[in-house]
Amino acid sequence: MKIIKNFSPNYDRKKRSVNSIKIIVFHYTGMQSERESIKRLCNPSSKVSSHYLINRNGKIIRMVQDAYVAWHAGKSCWRKHKNLNKNSIGIELVNKGHQFGYTSFKKKQISSLITLCKKLIKRYRINKKNVVGHSDIAPLRKIDPGEKFPWKYLAKNKIGIWYDHKPNFLRKYRRIKILTNKDKKRFIENLNKIGYCFSAKNKSLFFKTIKAFQRHFRKELINGILDQECFKIAQNLTKKIQKTP
Ligand SMILES: [Zn+2]
Repeated sequence: MKIIKNFSPNYDRKKRSVNSIKIIVFHYTGMQSERESIKRLCNPSSKVSSHYLINRNGKIIRMVQDAYVAWHAGKSCWRKHKNLNKNSIGIELVNKGHQFGYTSFKKKQISSLITLCKKLIKRYRINKKNVVGHSDIAPLRKIDPGEKFPWKYLAKNKIGIWYDHKPNFLRKYRRIKILTNKDKKRFIENLNKIGYCFSAKNKSLFFKTIKAFQRHFRKELINGILDQECFKIAQNLTKKIQKTP
């Protein structure tokens, strides 16, 4: 795997311990061009960066060394971790994003991503359940890497988690309401177990967390409304997570 260097000055100068690296966070660049994105990620006044950037042709650029904290996650939460910069590796994928014309990620881009992730997962022993998108950890502010991100394909390659249910089985439960409060409560508990940080008390966080969950696991309908399809997916994921150490 060839990695090109184009270092960004936007990182904490203090080295972190290898053991603190526990999470991988995916982003899209969300800008008009690759050049513009790199410029921003390397501009000291932007105060943003990531460890890696992968362009549309699959070229991998290293911007911050893994041993340093890059500034990509912002205010965020996953499982027991808060403000994930210190615990994570950030990977940016070049894509114009929802604002400038969101397109599918390129095959070459995803194949480089898989190679890179396999290496990182092995090196830092990153748990499957800690491979997330920016929207998963900051649902109030972020929607990247978005619903076109190939989560299922990545999971087939042992990167991240996915559920066992067949799409035809699940479809029948789409838009079917959850009837009991007990199930609603269980859904929230399951999402917390998967890693999402939220409670039902904060209404807008609740709505946006369900959207983030859908963007990741049920991209066909992202409406922020809990239905039985979402319920079944969350239940299956929770079961799988409990089996993984
Ligand atoms: Zn992001």
